[in-house]
Amino acid sequence: MIRLVLVLSMVFISPAAADSTRDSPWARFSQPAPGTSEVVGSYANGCLLGAEKLEVKGPGYQSIRRHRKRFFGHSRLIAFIKRFAVSLQDRGFEDILVGDLSQVRGGPLPFGHRSHQLGLDADLWFTAPDSKLRGDDKNFRSLVNVHTEQINRDVWSDRIPATLKLAAEDPDVARIFVHWVIKNELCKTVGEDRSWLRKVRPWWGHSRHFHVRLHCPEGSPGCVSQASIPKGDGCGKEAWFSAAQVKKRKARTKAGKKDKKKRPRKRRVLPPRCRALIVNP
Ligand SMILES: [Zn+2]
Repeated sequence: MIRLVLVLSMVFISPAAADSTRDSPWARFSQPAPGTSEVVGSYANGCLLGAEKLEVKGPGYQSIRRHRKRFFGHSRLIAFIKRFAVSLQDRGFEDILVGDLSQVRGGPLPFGHRSHQLGLDADLWFTAPDSKLRGDDKNFRSLVNVHTEQINRDVWSDRIPATLKLAAEDPDVARIFVHWVIKNELCKTVGEDRSWLRKVRPWWGHSRHFHVRLHCPEGSPGCVSQASIPKGDGCGKEAWFSAAQVKKRKARTKAGKKDKKKRPRKRRVLPPRCRALIVNP
């Protein structure tokens, strides 16, 4: 019996099992895995070698929420943020605030995201907060009134579509996630030059920040791409989340909150090269 208990406990503390726990080894690393930047796995199940650090400040950007230690990315992501910020600055826009990228070796995050595991995802804020407090989402104004499902006109400005267009036109960018009401607004208001809208994908949340995802970079044969985006500007029925979808989502969120404590997240097994980073750190 004692032996059985021992075997079981060994199973439960295996690296794969520890991934999704709050004290995940991925959150404890302080140094990048050596080598040049390389990603292994998929956006929601993978890791990052040779991470680069985003500095706290640079021309056109400020990195925020540094205490979360998610200011690392693949070198292509860091380069994208820098050139994007400079382009915004050239247009006379104020500094863009950069939130979560990835942990120093990527991997599963103990809270906040399922993706952001490869160093190819970045959260960028639409606006500056009303106060100096940048730690809490509530301090940033939402572009969407989620009760009426309408754009908040006093927060929206021409800077929003200009910013998203600039990001979408970058060849390294694969997708940008925004709240579906924002996607709708773009579909209605963007004129003839609308091919960039294709990369802007409607999602839930993302009314205060947008999420930029880069393509798998060269030199990362183990990077698993997402399926490519369907042709067109994405302004057909896919941009309109039906009342039924919204209702279902709300019910699910409510139920999810209730039994989150009872039901742990489904555990995924990381690619072997990622698991090796934990076993032989
Ligand atoms: Zn994100």
